[in-house]
Amino acid sequence: MKNKNKNFETDAVRAGIERSQFGEHSEGLFLTSSFVFKDAQEAAKRFSGEEPGNVYSRFTNPTTKAFEERLAALEGAEQCIATSSGMSAILATFMALCKPGDHVVVSKSIFGTSVQLFNNFLAKWGLSISFVDLPDLNSWEEATMKNTKFYFLETPSNPLTEIVDLKKLSQLAKSKKVKLIVDNCFCTPALQKPINHGADIIIHSATKYLDGQGRCLGGAVLGKKRLMNEIYIFLRNSGVTLSPFNAWVFLKGLETLKIRMNQQSDNAIKLATYLEKNKKISKVYYPGLKSHPQYKTALRQQSSGGAVLSFVVNGGQKVAWQIINKTKVMSITANLGDTKTTITHPATTTHSRLTQEQRDYSGIDNGLVRIAVGLEHIDDIIADLNI
Ligand SMILES: *Cc1c(COP(=O)(O)O)cnc(C)c1O
Repeated sequence: MKNKNKNFETDAVRAGIERSQFGEHSEGLFLTSSFVFKDAQEAAKRFSGEEPGNVYSRFTNPTTKAFEERLAALEGAEQCIATSSGMSAILATFMALCKPGDHVVVSKSIFGTSVQLFNNFLAKWGLSISFVDLPDLNSWEEATMKNTKFYFLETPSNPLTEIVDLKKLSQLAKSKKVKLIVDNCFCTPALQKPINHGADIIIHSATKYLDGQGRCLGGAVLGKKRLMNEIYIFLRNSGVTLSPFNAWVFLKGLETLKIRMNQQSDNAIKLATYLEKNKKISKVYYPGLKSHPQYKTALRQQSSGGAVLSFVVNGGQKVAWQIINKTKVMSITANLGDTKTTITHPATTTHSRLTQEQRDYSGIDNGLVRIAVGLEHIDDIIADLNI
């Protein structure tokens, strides 16, 4: 790994840099689909893999490689494979590492599109899937079968910020010879490094906090070289490739990741504390609050509560919509991971395809509002909410 250092802050700005003959200071952007060879012999060696080097940007590009090395340094992973989106990172992982007849146990509180990918496509190709309650270790154990290959989850979950004890779950996984996959989108390695708690594979939607400013789509899978090699071959053959331009944007995003995550978490705890005292709010979900049921676990595995919180207003959907519609500073959008604060009503947007019964089961109240807190001044965020 190029320019790997000891500390997160240093790796965030320097890991992965390999300067070209021009001695550029900032990371070079190699917008090229293919690469030229000195002679036919070199071309043959590059194609066969006998000699390392760039061939074609579907599977080798220096800018993309710099992003992969930097993110691997930050997650403490052996290798990273960058992909075109968070969804393609998940697709590549399961396509490359599973076969028909394999079984996976999946937290029921994962990103909606990930549920669709499992149920509508991966299942069609012979993967069987059991959904379980994220914080409940017994439900993971009970769902595990002889042919279970992976556990898959996000912690904290969206939008209710439930937490699973990663250390305990990874111990269970090891005892059952199951590999643990964590979608680390919400915390990023700035706040939580699942590999240190026993996870085998990390997945990212780089679209969110790694970019941090809402510009590009991208994703990544990280883990041990042996597993990543399978995913690399899938990427090479399927083309779920990250654009080098997006990789360059993400390299720049990673430089400020930690200060953004820390500042946005600071704003989030202030907002959560304010909301918890408000009489018009019946419940606040935020892992940085002492009232959160997994507060102690969160403190152990995350360096802060993160930047996403949600709350239930008295008066259901009508009042929730009134609050959202009155905001002037925040953006009304279901996206998150931006420096701009976003506000959304999960029951009628991200979770609208569920039936009322499924929403009740998942705790998505009609009065629930989710905020992904950005970098604006906290006083302006609180004033904008006006509750
Ligand atoms: C957004 C998101 C994804 C999907 O990522 P895309 O880059 O939009 O494809 C996956 N997991 C989580 C937790 C997300 O928030």
